[in-house]
Amino acid sequence: SIPLAFLGGIGAASKQGILIKSGAFLEDLTEADTFVFDKTGTLTEGVFYVRDVVPWKMDKEQLLEIAALAESYSNHPIALSLREAYGKDVDKTRVSDIEEQPGYGVRATVDGKEVYVGNTRLMNRQGIFYQLAAEAGTVVYIAVNGQYGGYILISDVIRKDAGKLIRWMHKKDLATVMLTGDNEHAAEAVASKLHIESVYSELMPEDKVSLLEEFCENQMEGEKLVFVGDGINDAPVLTLADIGIAMGGLGADAALEAADIILMEDEPSGIIKAIRIAKATLRSVK
Ligand code: ADP
Ligand code: MG
Repeated sequence: SIPLAFLGGIGAASKQGILIKSGAFLEDLTEADTFVFDKTGTLTEGVFYVRDVVPWKMDKEQLLEIAALAESYSNHPIALSLREAYGKDVDKTRVSDIEEQPGYGVRATVDGKEVYVGNTRLMNRQGIFYQLAAEAGTVVYIAVNGQYGGYILISDVIRKDAGKLIRWMHKKDLATVMLTGDNEHAAEAVASKLHIESVYSELMPEDKVSLLEEFCENQMEGEKLVFVGDGINDAPVLTLADIGIAMGGLGADAALEAADIILMEDEPSGIIKAIRIAKATLRSVK
C-alpha cells in the first residue's frame, strides 16, 4: 500500500503544476544523479523565428513560399515558424505527396515540382550540391527539382529559467547532458550558454534511444537516470529512463503518455520543486 505521505507529496506537487503519476517516482527522484535533456522545446521554447532567407537563383519571397507550402501539413516547430514568416494562408491545393521524414525534414510536390526542405543530412542523401550556411543557428535547406534553392536561418529562444535549473543541478553535483537532432553549431550555442557539460548533436530519433540505453547500462546501483523531453520522438526515451519528465504545454500526446512526471507550466525549474518535494516526502516516511 502507498504510505499516506506519498499521496501528500503527489498532492503538494500538483498544486505547483507538477503531475507525478506514481508515488514510486518520488522515491526515485531522491536518487536521481544524471539529467539528460532534449534541446528543442525542452531547454528552449521550441518556437523558432526566421532570421534570414538566403535564396540561390530565385527571390526571397519565392523561397519562403516554397518552404511554407512544402511544410503546410507538418506540426514540427520548424514548419510552424516557416508558415508564420510566410504570413499568408497556404494554398494547400498547390501541394501534394507530402512525406515527413523524421530526423531529415519533409518532401512534397509544390506546383508540380519536387521539393525537399530539411537539414544537411537530407541534402546529402538526395545528392544536392548546397552552400553550407556560415551562421550559427538552425538552418533549413531547400531543394527544388534536384537543384539547390537556398537556405533559411531560424533561431529559438532558451527558456528563461533553464539557466537557473542547470546552475542548481551543478551545485548539487548532478550531471547534465543535452541531446538534439539539430546541428552542432546550434547545439553548442545553447549548451555553452547553459554550461551543460556533455552535448550530443545531429542525432536521429533512434540514436537518442541507443544513447539512453548506453547511459542506463553505465548507471551505478541506486543511481537514477532522468530524461526530460517534449516531442513525439521523445516517447521511447522517456520510457527507457528511470524517470521520464515531459513538458506539459508544448508536449506531444505520446510524450505526455510516456512520461512519469509532467511539468504543466513548461518551466524547467519545476524539476527543482519536484526534487525538494520528493526529499521532504522521503524524510517524513523514514
Ligand atoms: P530535435 O527536437 O532534437 O531538434 P527532431 O528529431 O525533431 O529533433 O529534428 C531533428 C532535425 O531534423 C531538425 O533539427 C531538422 O534539421 C530536421 N527536421 C525534422 N523535421 C523537420 C521539418 N518538418 N522541416 C524541416 N526540418 C526538419
Ligand atoms: Mg524535440
